[in-house]
Amino acid sequence: MMSKVPPTYFFEAEAGAAFETDGVQIGYRVKKKLYEGMSAYQSVRVFDLVFFGRALFLDSILQTAEKDEFVYHEMLCQSPLFCHKNPERVLIIGGGDGGSLREVVKHKEVREVWMVEIDKDVMDVSRKYLPALSQGAFQDPRARVLVEDAARFIKRHKSFFDVIILDVSDPEGPAAKLVSPGFYKNVREALREKGVVCAQSGSFTTQSVLVRRIQKRLREQFAFVEVRRACVPSYHAGVYSFTMASRAPLSLAGSRSFQEQKAASMGLRYWSPAIHKISSVLPAYLEGMLEDCL
Ligand code: SAM
Repeated sequence: MMSKVPPTYFFEAEAGAAFETDGVQIGYRVKKKLYEGMSAYQSVRVFDLVFFGRALFLDSILQTAEKDEFVYHEMLCQSPLFCHKNPERVLIIGGGDGGSLREVVKHKEVREVWMVEIDKDVMDVSRKYLPALSQGAFQDPRARVLVEDAARFIKRHKSFFDVIILDVSDPEGPAAKLVSPGFYKNVREALREKGVVCAQSGSFTTQSVLVRRIQKRLREQFAFVEVRRACVPSYHAGVYSFTMASRAPLSLAGSRSFQEQKAASMGLRYWSPAIHKISSVLPAYLEGMLEDCL
């Protein structure tokens, strides 16, 4: 008896201007559609995918999936947090699914974590259909969640944050201005002297133009910029990049044993001091891609 093959939904994912993969169509076999709606900013969908579990799609682009979101959120959040001696005040820009918030509240030295997300629907839908991402982090007493355009919010805060995490969708729609030189200048000014910023900077494989643009613009603002790589299988985007920047040299804070004990106590599944070290080693073809961004 032929097994009933679940329907495949092909998303015109990666088809926006920020991608170089017009010839690529990405399909995910779907068990069930859990939510579909239009917010004031974008289409919002949650599917239960056969292989990747529950996943959030915004304007047809997969944002995060239960099966491998920990890779993305740990790389994006733990990299900068472990490079700051005392990250008391943290800002997450975007991150409406709550995965970054979950990673930040694991640090007990964090006193305040601000999250500025433009689309309330994304948070509401994620809390209802993707609770495994935030794991109650929205209720953490240190969390201050604001529904606002981050491009506006960031201008109002000077020398205020120790770590800023840019967990925003690709530069289309509401996120289009979050890769402008002016935005990165405001991010630098919002950081305290030894502050660290980490941005999801797109895929080396399907978004090399974006990766280079973010590199260049962060180098215009910061003396120290490092890019790290990881594979996030559900993105179907090859080598994914995370770019960190600071006015001070970027290095893990504290002794190696301290870092290892701290990471182990958090039950991290991807990030570790060792991964941190090797993830900044790029193969020659990727180094070459970034050469003229220096
Ligand atoms: N992991 C995803 C990726 O790599 O693209 C990002 C996930 S997170 C859901 C992206 C969030 O950025 C979305 O919820 C979106 O609403 C938010 N966002 C986009 N533009 C924004 C803006 N101008 N201000 C604040 N949040 C914004």
